[in-house]
Amino acid sequence: MNRPLDQKSYDAVVVGMGPAGATAACELSRAGLSVLALEKDVHPRYKVCGGGLSVRIEQLLDPGFKSVVEDTIFGFQFLYRGEESVTIESPSPIAYMVMRDRFDHYLVQQARRVGTEIHEGEHPQSLRHVPEGVEVTTDRGCYHAKVLIGADGANSQVARQLFPDRRQRCIPTLESEIELGSGPQYPAMGKAVIDIGVCSKGYAWIFPKQGRLSVGVGAFQSKPASLKKTFDRFVWGEKGLAGLDVPKPMGHPLPLFSRTELSPEPGPDDLVNGQAMLVGDAGHLVDPLFGEGIYYAVRSGKMAAMAVLNQRHDRTKSLWAYELAVREQLYAEFRIASRLADIVYTFPRLCHRLLSPYREVVQLYCEVLQGKETYQSFIPRAKRILKSSTSELLLEALQLR
Ligand SMILES: Cc1cc2nc3c(=O)[nH]c(=O)nc-3n(C[C@H](O)[C@H](O)[C@H](O)COP(=O)(O)OP(=O)(O)OC[C@H]3O[C@@H](n4cnc5c(N)ncnc54)[C@H](O)[C@@H]3O)c2cc1C
Repeated sequence: MNRPLDQKSYDAVVVGMGPAGATAACELSRAGLSVLALEKDVHPRYKVCGGGLSVRIEQLLDPGFKSVVEDTIFGFQFLYRGEESVTIESPSPIAYMVMRDRFDHYLVQQARRVGTEIHEGEHPQSLRHVPEGVEVTTDRGCYHAKVLIGADGANSQVARQLFPDRRQRCIPTLESEIELGSGPQYPAMGKAVIDIGVCSKGYAWIFPKQGRLSVGVGAFQSKPASLKKTFDRFVWGEKGLAGLDVPKPMGHPLPLFSRTELSPEPGPDDLVNGQAMLVGDAGHLVDPLFGEGIYYAVRSGKMAAMAVLNQRHDRTKSLWAYELAVREQLYAEFRIASRLADIVYTFPRLCHRLLSPYREVVQLYCEVLQGKETYQSFIPRAKRILKSSTSELLLEALQLR
């Protein structure tokens, strides 16, 4: 194929350098591919996010990421409308807390170190499928990519331009970063606070960091009249935040996985189209129970890179292997998370009341976050715990049969 002389060609172009893009770029560069990464911002940059990383991230990242961990979480404090506190703890860490500017910058540096060419402050003006790849035009140049990885987050331009039939389904969230300073001390360091009563079909959180708290609210299964009012209600009612100055929260869409994306046949919501792929938030790979997305961004970045490398070694292999791997591994988990979300957000009061008598089930869920269990192994074990101590009626009510 003849290409314009001023068009530079790469084995892969990655659009967006959050956790998904930085991971994919790093894997591909490390394997010797020529990789261009386009990032519209300049790292380190602020990202609206709770920054909670489940400990199973250790299975995916080199241990160096711990240099940017702000706090380690050994327990959850569950609240219902600011009251009825139930604390569930684990002797080993459940989650790490990061600020996304530092964490993402760390991942971007890792990719740069292994040879990714990173253009910050540059984003595509147009993207189009061409024979043998994708053409990307920015205000600084025109590039040909044998493979294009869309890792540009919830409002993905790659999805809009190269996957025009994909459905967009994002939930609204709000978050504020509270500086702790030398004033009143926050009583629950080392614990993540989760309130499932304050927001109709959603939850509010407090995630502790070094010298600050990330406080937010997300409406997971409903569109509230005013999420800001819900946020204010949570902040005013939460005793641990008394006396602290709470800056105005910022909004950001969260692209939760939706079961409508589960068509067994190839369809509009696929993550592969020609030589283009979607990873992380751009592909809606966010756990629908509590909105965990960083782990799945990193995991999908790795999975996409593996499909690209397999195709490079064997031209008969298709990038479709990535779609199949996501369906088999990630969607299988999200399907279960989605059922749990239906229960939790339909019966928040009942679920909160069951936390104390069934803390074993929550501890089991913590083991999923720790990577000791999977969602798939969680369900039969949780059923056994519930069956051994409760009536069939309750199982029926929780739709776990
Ligand atoms: C309020 C809130 C709280 C959250 N809390 C948590 C949590 O505690 N734990 C958790 O695991 N997940 C959480 N998430 C989800 C998590 O933030 C995302 O799932 C995760 O950031 C996805 O990573 P990503 O790399 O796919 O996308 P992003 O992190 O969004 O990165 C996308 C990158 O692409 C860049 N970009 C965007 N458009 C373009 C473009 N056109 N061209 C070039 N670059 C572009 C952006 O600047 C950005 O750097 C939260 C989300 C929200 C909104």
